[in-house]
Amino acid sequence: MKSFNIAVLSGDGIGPEVMAEALRVLAAVEKKCGLQFQFTEARVGGIAIDVDGEALPEETLRICRAADAILFGSVGGPKWESLPPQKQPERAALLPLRKHFGLFANLRPAICFPKLTHASPVKESIVSGGFDVLCVRELTGGLYFGQPKYSREENGDTVAVDTMVYKKSEIERIAHIAFKAAQGRNKHLTSIDKANVLENSVLWRKTLTEIAPQYPDVTLAHLYVDNAAMQLIKNPKGFDVILAENLFGDILSDEMAMITGSLGMLPSASLGLSETAHGRFGLFEPSGGTAPDIAGKGIANPIAQILSAGMMLRYALGEPAAADLIDAAVLRVIDSGLRTGDIWSEGTQRVGTREMGEAIAQAL
Ligand code: NAD
Repeated sequence: MKSFNIAVLSGDGIGPEVMAEALRVLAAVEKKCGLQFQFTEARVGGIAIDVDGEALPEETLRICRAADAILFGSVGGPKWESLPPQKQPERAALLPLRKHFGLFANLRPAICFPKLTHASPVKESIVSGGFDVLCVRELTGGLYFGQPKYSREENGDTVAVDTMVYKKSEIERIAHIAFKAAQGRNKHLTSIDKANVLENSVLWRKTLTEIAPQYPDVTLAHLYVDNAAMQLIKNPKGFDVILAENLFGDILSDEMAMITGSLGMLPSASLGLSETAHGRFGLFEPSGGTAPDIAGKGIANPIAQILSAGMMLRYALGEPAAADLIDAAVLRVIDSGLRTGDIWSEGTQRVGTREMGEAIAQAL
């Protein structure tokens, strides 16, 4: 029987509530697929600040290092908002985790379920039947990290400088992630750049074009980022996987999350430098935050956390069939009419966090 060590970092707000349902669904996967999960819980974020005095205690890092993957909830909330910025839960927990594990590839599926198109702010004629676009974003390079980076007085004026830098090797490694992801989906990859203006983008496009022959089953298209922002909203169904550098990916993945209309449904994966026996080490978490407005009420939507567990099976644990089962169970439960408050509409049945988790585990 295959056995996996999972570090479970539930965090704050709705984190523990939705995590409990993801673990319930993983327990159903264990039975169904003959897998074994060893869950080790660890504190992170605000709760860790309260108990241990820091957002990412050494013990939590040790548990993560010993694991095959990290299943993460979310961190932060009003209680810790008055702390200095560098001590705040997101900055002091998530950024060091990204850095420690070299989490360079951010995967955010933007899925609009056929039965939830009413939640999208985009016209029904555009989203009818739903869509499923995977946004792959480079997470550790580009403008956010390039040096020099400063703001200073020069000749009586204030000058701010950010530097966009990419090495070919950095583009290659994220490109392989995107091509492989496309192979497991509808085999179409759209690479986003601004090659008409930026040297970085010229290298980006050239590198993607060079790698493409290694993936003959995947068709590669290139799109300028300004055009991509328009096409994604005009025809999201025309895309399968999109790949972008850090800044472009940050913006476009948020645009895509917005047009699905359902934040509580969106999972994400951040994949690291180290490959494991089963896949690639990574951190798997919902796209949303700790939702302080509904925390503790048992009404949060656990689906983003459950689908994040599915992404963990697919990308870190090498169990795509088990991930497919989770995706299918979620679809079946949505089709059956069960809804948490955030996705509820007239004629559907409103349920709480736990009932939704139980229904998905049952559907497995
Ligand atoms: P948020 O995503 O927590 O909430 C935005 C809105 O979406 C709220 O109305 C919330 O109720 C709703 N929502 C989010 N997830 C939901 C779910 N699963 N089910 C139902 N409704 C859901 O964003 P925010 O309000 O900007 O941030 C709240 C806190 O979360 C802040 O402290 C922020 O720093 C933190 N945050 C953490 C992460 C992370 O840990 N990765 C990410 C984003 C925000």
